[in-house]
Amino acid sequence: VSSIPLGPGAEFDVIRRILKGAAPPGPEVALASGDDCALLRAEDYRYLAVSVDLTVQDAHFLLDWGTPELVGGRAVRASVSDLAAMAAEPVGVLVALNVPADAEPGLAEQVGAGCTSACTALGAPLIGGDLSRGGGTLALDVAALGLVERPLLRSGARPGDELWVTGRLGAAAGAVGAWKAGAPVPEEWYDRFWRPEPRLVEARWLAERDVSTGIDLSDGLLADAGHISAASGVGLEIDWQAVPAAAGVEPALALAGGEDYELLVAAPGGIFSPEHVSEFERTFGIPLTRVGRAVTGIGVRVFRDGEEVALDSSGHDHFRAG
Ligand SMILES: [Mg+2]
Repeated sequence: VSSIPLGPGAEFDVIRRILKGAAPPGPEVALASGDDCALLRAEDYRYLAVSVDLTVQDAHFLLDWGTPELVGGRAVRASVSDLAAMAAEPVGVLVALNVPADAEPGLAEQVGAGCTSACTALGAPLIGGDLSRGGGTLALDVAALGLVERPLLRSGARPGDELWVTGRLGAAAGAVGAWKAGAPVPEEWYDRFWRPEPRLVEARWLAERDVSTGIDLSDGLLADAGHISAASGVGLEIDWQAVPAAAGVEPALALAGGEDYELLVAAPGGIFSPEHVSEFERTFGIPLTRVGRAVTGIGVRVFRDGEEVALDSSGHDHFRAG
């Protein structure tokens, strides 16, 4: 059994303290903590990829930002994105849902309808769950299960690899910023926050082309690059100007803003020709952009016009003081 080293940060310190008390898993567990999914050995040289993702009212969303259906759909999509991060094919989803004690009648059904329609859209059937009512908070914990033959780990990046990102970044964080400021939210930002698209088929396309490493962008490009750096033991250099920002998004937000659920992958230098890139864009309708490289060392550095940019690269950390 292996586990993958977590990067620095208060949230990961809490996880490290919890894992210290955990008994080691048996031989059927090929990969325990530290990546987007745990991997269990399955038949036919495959792995069962398993992940769980928690969505809590007031920590991840406010109910005024959308509808209960959107809350359910987003929770499923965010969880299934961890399967995309491993290049796994979904086989099922389990949803544990708590609704507040004073919830309007029908709230659980509305959230559940959002979950089931996202499950159908993603080809990840709802296969179980749990329901409770109490306290003051709507919360969903969504477990995603998938199968994968060649998982895309966080730990495979090597110096000389190129970093590539799918889609355009920053729209989800743009929406959150606009809601908090009481500003209007452009439709594209709204959709990206509430209906993120797990890059399942894109991940399999990339994995078939010898990509060495992958992660989904939940914490933000800089923070998630930090996870690859820590897991792979390499330094990562990102070109500020190369980062593809969503329409109307400042470059700094495209770098640091979380919850876009695009993919960041590392690939040996030169394996993506311009023809590959246009094939990707034709097939999936989103860009594939080279944003940097892996080097010897550790940590993530950002360069603009050859000059290093000083940035808070930690992204979102629920457990950071202040
Ligand atoms: Mg992830």
